[in-house]
Amino acid sequence: MTIYFNGSFMPLEQAKVPVLDRGFIFGDGVYEVIPVYSRHAFRMREHLTRLQHSMDGIQLPNPHSMDAWVAILTELIARNAPEDQYLYLHITRGVAPRDHAFPKPPVAPTVFAMSNPLVHPPAALLHSGVACITATDNRWLRCDIKSIALLPNVLLRQSAVAAGCAEAILIRDDAFLTEGAASNIFVVKDGVLLAPPKDNLMLPGITYDVLLELAAANGIPHQVRRILKAELFAADELLLTSSTREVLAVTTLDGKTVGDGKPGAMFARLHELYQTFKREVMRK
Ligand code: PLP
Repeated sequence: MTIYFNGSFMPLEQAKVPVLDRGFIFGDGVYEVIPVYSRHAFRMREHLTRLQHSMDGIQLPNPHSMDAWVAILTELIARNAPEDQYLYLHITRGVAPRDHAFPKPPVAPTVFAMSNPLVHPPAALLHSGVACITATDNRWLRCDIKSIALLPNVLLRQSAVAAGCAEAILIRDDAFLTEGAASNIFVVKDGVLLAPPKDNLMLPGITYDVLLELAAANGIPHQVRRILKAELFAADELLLTSSTREVLAVTTLDGKTVGDGKPGAMFARLHELYQTFKREVMRK
């Protein structure tokens, strides 16, 4: 596997990060994940725009322009074998003596990007849907930043896995839905697709945006608004989205069936539209 590390391409084994890297010491950095289909990065510029938002959010100057990132990632894709990949980008505030405050003068950021094979959700999962648990959203108040400090998300996802589930669906203040530990969540009620608003309490998902665009373009009734905890439990359907999982139906929540316990009509429609959209984008 060839990776990009601080200006050079190299085998993964060659890249070494000093222990005083602020990513290692403080989790002081941000990241992105970009899916690649048939060697085409999907929504690359949107992902890089979100990366810029994350970097602005932690006051870390972006070491590369949009065009420079595109060039780096295009080469990274070309240097790796799989047709379908996912790119992982990771930028930290660099290596400096341990002190919470930013290094003064600033030091060079640590910049890392790798490509992994993209494993598509198995067909069986598309047919059965996935089981999820709910959990208290105990993260900070800047969940719009794609921070590498993921300990809350790690613990939340692990609680789902320990319960034999695919994801933890997060409820803030015992009152409303925010998102999944590493995904966005939609509720379907009476034929309407409901999405939580993009604010500081959730990551603005790129797949989330695509789903809402597809709903708008295809006359599917949809609303973006706060979704109460009670609405989550009374849903006809629940959908989970992320760059690597695309769109999945959530058919069990806290051990109870969602709707009739099978992936529903809204899932079928949006999943099909998403696949068609992907194919069209890849042809361009
Ligand atoms: N929310 C969180 C917390 C995530 O970590 C992710 C992605 O991994 C998402 C939402 C989905 O975002 P995207 O569709 O851009 O992958």
